[in-house]
Amino acid sequence: MPVLKTICDIVPEIAADAKERFGFEKCCTDWRDLRQQLRSKAAQPQNPQPQVPQSAPVAKFCGKCGSPLNEAGKCPNCDNNQPQA
Ligand SMILES: [Zn+2]
Repeated sequence: MPVLKTICDIVPEIAADAKERFGFEKCCTDWRDLRQQLRSKAAQPQNPQPQVPQSAPVAKFCGKCGSPLNEAGKCPNCDNNQPQA
C-alpha cells in the first residue's frame, strides 16, 4: 500500500487542492522542502532493515578426544581428523 506523502506545486492553492483530492499527508510550494524532508528521513530511518541472522558455523568435535576441531578439520589435541559421528 503506497503512502502519499507530500504534493508539491508552486501555486499554494493547487498544492492544497491536490493534497485534499488525492489524500496526501502534506503539501508544499517549494521542492526544496521535499529534499529537506527526504534528508531528515534518511537520517532517521523509520523501518530499519531487520538483522539477518548469520548461520552459525557447525562445530565439529574430535572423534577421539572430543576437542573442537580447528578450521582445517583437525583436532589440535591429538591430530585426529575424524569428527564425532
Ligand atoms: Zn582429538
